[in-house]
Amino acid sequence: MADRDGVIWLDGELVPWREAKVHVLTHTLHYGLGVFEGVRAYETDRGTAIFRLDAHTDRLFNSAKIFSMPMPFDKATLSEAQRTVVRENKLSSCYLRPMCFYGSEGMGLRADNLKVHVMVAAWPWGAYLGAEAMERGIRIRVSSFTRHHVNITMTRAKSNGTYINSMLALQEALRDGYDEALLLDPEGYVAEGSGENFFMVKNGVIYTPELTSCLEGITRDSIMRIARELGFELREKRITRDEVYIADEAFFTGTAAEVTPIRELDGRTIGEGRRGPLTEKLQKAFFDVVHGRSEAHLDWLALV
Ligand code: PMP
Repeated sequence: MADRDGVIWLDGELVPWREAKVHVLTHTLHYGLGVFEGVRAYETDRGTAIFRLDAHTDRLFNSAKIFSMPMPFDKATLSEAQRTVVRENKLSSCYLRPMCFYGSEGMGLRADNLKVHVMVAAWPWGAYLGAEAMERGIRIRVSSFTRHHVNITMTRAKSNGTYINSMLALQEALRDGYDEALLLDPEGYVAEGSGENFFMVKNGVIYTPELTSCLEGITRDSIMRIARELGFELREKRITRDEVYIADEAFFTGTAAEVTPIRELDGRTIGEGRRGPLTEKLQKAFFDVVHGRSEAHLDWLALV
């Protein structure tokens, strides 16, 4: 990743990709306290557009607030930084990674001279779980690792350190031959995937877990709004793993994963064992929106 052409926005400057480096004593590298975003830009008829740029930028600022990280830039500057990296790297569609981290000005938990640094990179990234998964669906297992408790690392912020938990769950799932993990919350109810929100369909009604133990996904919000506009009933509620075993359909949502159908959980086939009809409708509607083919949500697209 580090050895390529292009530019990265770092603390207000565009830096050549290979030179966008930090010191080994970078505080966030040691203790994991940092906040970040995952954003996508898509090709549309009107040009490349960042999907829900304002929502992602707002979440980044909220994440920083939760962890008391003072933001050295305002929202307008960071929004423009995201547009700039897409434009300057001449990307027609891509994934963007803004991150705020503590620098190497001090060490130890008590360091009181730390500066918050901000970077934004962008690079091409296709279907996160592979093109085939988008049609066939993926096989997942319930993780032996529990999702974060609201009072341990909290779950509203998208913060660097919390992804240790995601990686433990994902490594375990991949090692056991699955495509992704489903994490339960500390009380044993379905929370989310390692980097996705979870949805299931039963008797025509769409269900998704309440936000207690999962990230407030921007794709989750988009899909909820699209589903309701299409006339589907959608409820947020506690979901148990056995409810998922007997669901008609299930899928994950996320900026990277977009809308990925789930065809199996813990060796139980979900529904017909392939992308369900309602999942397919939502997936299609989602891709119409992100590519600017739907008039309904053009305000979700920020042209670069
Ligand atoms: N949950 C977790 C743990 C995630 O990492 C992500 C990806 N950001 C999501 C859910 C989905 O969020 P979004 O739709 O905003 O990408």
